[in-house]
Amino acid sequence: MMEQSEFGVQDRLQKMLSNIPVAIFPHCNFVSTAEEFEKLHKTPDARVTMENFYHIMRKKTGILMEADKPFGGAWNYDKQNRLPPDKKLIAPPQPAFPPDEITQEVIAMVERYFGDHPGTTENWNYAVTRKDALVAAKNFFDNRLNEFGPHQDAMLHGQPFLNHSILSPYVNTCLLHPVELCVEAEHCYKTGKAQLTSVEGFVRQLIGWREFMWRAYWRMMPDFKKKNHLNANEKLPEFFWSGDTKMRCLKDSIDTVLEHGYAHHIVRLMLLGNFALIAGLNPRETNDWFHAMFIDGYDWVMIPNVIGMSLHADGGYVGTKPYAASANYINKMSNYCKGCHYDPKKAIGDDACPFNSLYWDFLMRNEQEFANNHRMFTVVRGLSSKTKEWKTDIKSRAEHLRKNGWK
Ligand SMILES: Cc1cc2nc3c(=O)[nH]c(=O)nc-3n(C[C@H](O)[C@H](O)[C@H](O)COP(=O)(O)OP(=O)(O)OC[C@H]3O[C@@H](n4cnc5c(N)ncnc54)[C@H](O)[C@@H]3O)c2cc1C
Ligand code: SF4
Repeated sequence: MMEQSEFGVQDRLQKMLSNIPVAIFPHCNFVSTAEEFEKLHKTPDARVTMENFYHIMRKKTGILMEADKPFGGAWNYDKQNRLPPDKKLIAPPQPAFPPDEITQEVIAMVERYFGDHPGTTENWNYAVTRKDALVAAKNFFDNRLNEFGPHQDAMLHGQPFLNHSILSPYVNTCLLHPVELCVEAEHCYKTGKAQLTSVEGFVRQLIGWREFMWRAYWRMMPDFKKKNHLNANEKLPEFFWSGDTKMRCLKDSIDTVLEHGYAHHIVRLMLLGNFALIAGLNPRETNDWFHAMFIDGYDWVMIPNVIGMSLHADGGYVGTKPYAASANYINKMSNYCKGCHYDPKKAIGDDACPFNSLYWDFLMRNEQEFANNHRMFTVVRGLSSKTKEWKTDIKSRAEHLRKNGWK
């Protein structure tokens, strides 16, 4: 059999088949091997980071490589890919995939048995066959790949997809192969259809982050799921299920998830994940929420992304620093703050943006933990210039939010 993508399924199958000789073949939709990942752990002086593993995968696949050198002379063009949103940016529309007969049958079944669950079946617009998944991929390469890179981190109210590919559901269910997508992206660069910064950014997501997360999951399971390094134990707020909050950024993101089962990476990481991190929400509960709400949710990719990358609950194995940010980042990278009930410049007071007080409260709560993290050192040092009164005010504002459902 092919190795399963989920630890629990693999474990159960292996137990069931314990008396039968079974050959287990590598999963068909990944590029790396467990041996390559282990080798990185054992290489003296090599840091186990996505970036280092990504270089190994680039060399292995030959994608964006000229002999053993990366195209354009650099491995990673992320610095050019973090532009704030152009407020006039309107992404090309997504292709339409009206539900076929089988999908309609399944939708009716979901309504019958799970009608009271959050979300809606009304906006179903995902491909369910390889043929349509290829149409979705072509649409991305033709219309959005070129602009994918520069505005990859941007967030715009009412525009959930921007130039992202929306291909994860198809890659995760093996309708599309990551290497065929990378080869096509490389072709777009070679034929002048897409800029290198965008193509490299896209390739890095697929054979960098995706492979790294897959290997991290298998190396750390079953304990990964239980990690709670920062001892975060707050309950998930009610509004995560309904979108009923005055925080405009979170309302828009959660409404989008309820509508499409999707939010792009930066919304997941820097809005939803960031809020969960700085508010101290319990990692297991947060992971379960993501699992319940997203179209592309699988244990192997949720756990490293939510418990590892977003919540730092693994102590820094997946990401060397926590992705914690105040309203400053959100205001720079989105158009949410204009028109929000809260003031992004304030940390204290009834109209102060909750992201600010929670951010500083998070740093104070974990000051000792981050003091020795070279990537957090400067941020944490910022606390020393704050007065005692300011710190007390921040703590009481955070406490107030906690007690009042984060409102
Ligand atoms: C909190 C959180 C939860 C996430 N949960 C999931 C999940 O359940 N399922 C899932 O597939 N991805 C998950 N991701 C990773 C990433 O956000 C999604 O893969 C991506 O947003 C899917 O949208 P897209 O296809 O438009 O991606 P694009 O931005 O167009 O990226 C291209 C492809 O690269 C891959 N990719 C990109 N980033 C990652 C990553 N960090 N890990 C693994 N693959 C990646 C995906 O296959 C994706 O389709 C999560 C990230 C975070 C921060
Ligand atoms: S002010 Fe705060 S809550 Fe409102 S949109 Fe900006 S970051 Fe979000």
